[in-house]
Amino acid sequence: MAPEAAVCEDDEPNSNQSGMPKIIVLMGAPGAGKGTQARLLQERLHLPQISTGDIFRALKNAQTPLAQELREIMERGQLVPDELTIRLVKERTAQVDCRNGYILDGFPRTPEQARSLDGLAAEQDNTIVAINIDVPLDLLEKRMTGRRNCPVCGEIYNIYFKPPKNDNVCDFHPEAQLVHRADDNAETVQARLATYEAKTRSLIEYYKSAGLLHSVAGTREPGDIYGDIERIVQQG
Ligand code: ADP
Repeated sequence: MAPEAAVCEDDEPNSNQSGMPKIIVLMGAPGAGKGTQARLLQERLHLPQISTGDIFRALKNAQTPLAQELREIMERGQLVPDELTIRLVKERTAQVDCRNGYILDGFPRTPEQARSLDGLAAEQDNTIVAINIDVPLDLLEKRMTGRRNCPVCGEIYNIYFKPPKNDNVCDFHPEAQLVHRADDNAETVQARLATYEAKTRSLIEYYKSAGLLHSVAGTREPGDIYGDIERIVQQG
C-alpha cells in the first residue's frame, strides 16, 4: 500500500496565528460541510488539511486487492477498518508540515479512532479543538446527491444550492467537467447516514464530556459558518 499518494509535499513552515499547536477536528454528518470548512481553514490558517475520505479516494484507484476492498467498503457506505485508518492518520500527521498543527476532516469516526487521536495529540504535544457542524438530517441527503467537485481545484458545487455558472463545469476551470462522487448516489447516501448514526454520532458526547466540543449551526452561508469556526480556533 502507498499512503504517500495522499501526502502533501509542502514542507514550508506554517503559521498558526494563536501560537499553540492545534488539532482541529471537524465533525458532522456526511454532507454537513466539513470539506468546505476544512478547505477554508487550510487557506486562511495555513495548516494542512487531512481528509481521510480524500486519502481513501486516492488509494482506491490503484489496481491492488486493498484498492478493491476500499471500493467495496465505500460503495456500501461503510467505514474502512480502524486499524488501517489510524495507521494512515499516524503516518500522515508525522510529516513535517503538521508540526504546527493540522485540520482533520472525517477523522475520528469511531470511539477507537477518537481514543487513538487522544494518544497522538499527547505524543505530539498538540491540543484538540473539536468542532461539530450541525445540520438537520433532512438537508443532508440533497447536499450529497447534488454535490459536484472540480477535479482540478477541488471547488465544491451543488446543483440545488450552489450551481456552477455554466452547466457542469468549474467556474475557475471551464475546461474541467465537474465530478459526481461515486458514493454520492441516493442509495449509498442513505447507508452513509445510517453508518454515521450507528458509529460516529456518539463522538459528539465523547468530546462534550472531555470539555473539548464546540458546535456551529451548519445551515448558514459557508463564510458565516467559517467566521464562527475561526473564532473558536483562535480562542480555543
Ligand atoms: P463524508 O463525510 O461526506 O461521508 P468522506 O469523504 O469523509 O465523506 O468519506 C468517504 C468514505 O471514506 C466514507 O464513507 C468511509 O467509507 C471512508 N472513510 C473516511 N474517513 C473514514 C474514517 N475516519 N474511518 C473509516 N472510514 C472512513
